Amino acid sequence: MQKTALVSGAAGFIGSHMCDRLLAEGFNVVGVDNMLTGTARNLSHLAGEPRFDFVEQNVSESFSVPGSFSHVLHMASPASPRDYLEFPLETLEVGSAGTRNMLQIAHRNEAKFLVTSTSETYGDPVVHPQVETYWGNVNPVGPRSCYDEAKRFAEAMTMAFHRKYGVRTSIARIFNTYGPRIKLNDGRVVPAFLDQALHGKPITIFGNGSQTRSFCYVSDLVDGLFRLLLSDEIYPVNLGNPLELTIREFAERIIALTGSTVSISYEPLPEDDPRQRKPDITKAGRLLGWQPVVGLEEGLRKTVEYFQSLEDAVPSR
Ligand code: UDP
Repeated sequence: MQKTALVSGAAGFIGSHMCDRLLAEGFNVVGVDNMLTGTARNLSHLAGEPRFDFVEQNVSESFSVPGSFSHVLHMASPASPRDYLEFPLETLEVGSAGTRNMLQIAHRNEAKFLVTSTSETYGDPVVHPQVETYWGNVNPVGPRSCYDEAKRFAEAMTMAFHRKYGVRTSIARIFNTYGPRIKLNDGRVVPAFLDQALHGKPITIFGNGSQTRSFCYVSDLVDGLFRLLLSDEIYPVNLGNPLELTIREFAERIIALTGSTVSISYEPLPEDDPRQRKPDITKAGRLLGWQPVVGLEEGLRKTVEYFQSLEDAVPSR
């Protein structure tokens, strides 16, 4: 039987790559996005694709999409700190009402449901690396709470639909991801540092740069999401690259890769910025046979090529 996936957040960075993967796997795909933080450019290459349809819709409002679905993926949400701090209410709504609406569609269609949660459910973690059984250390009233708690609520809502109605559900906890289609100006560290290094602007390290992150290339992440979608695992699964760097080390890698001579400027650390983050991916390896394969340098090169292709596409005056 022909498989058809409904994907919210289809015009987003990871959502658009997931649509590509589903199409490559033979699915029909209906993408939904309200274009709050997504961009039409991420889907422009699918304009002539007969197995892809796009619906502009806020999934936090009640809505219906014609057709029946074998798979429902709820990937919509502002995801960078800059975006969710600008849109805190929309972030809370898409994690709560949006998750509920997507789960109802999955329930009605007896479809497999996958929600993209986040490493932010661990907050500022005291268990390191983060393992799925860790309950986290989230400030419920801090500036990041709109995102962290929305995603924690989304996980709880997903488990409730599974327990109450037997919906087949999976929960992916996504760690920092980068690659083509990440927004150049969304404030995240990968596009920020690349933009600065490529354009001769000082690299802005927040705090003293001793906080750590672990960066996963988008094709690796999407491969993990696809495997999870096809699996029977109900409980959360971490997806990320366990190569952990301090932000200062990361800045040095970017400077070396781009051959840039820019200086480093130290700026205040945002409130509640997690001090350390590294996924324990033992569970994904065991259950899904998954592990990331793209190295940081290769992934960053492809991201640089993407940013340069965007600049080339802008007509010069
Ligand atoms: N960061 C930084 N300079 C920037 C942007 C981010 O030093 O211009 C730091 C930020 O404080 C955090 C890390 O890089 O410690 C990752 O930030 P990002 O916004 O990419 O995502 P987060 O992992 O915090 O959600």
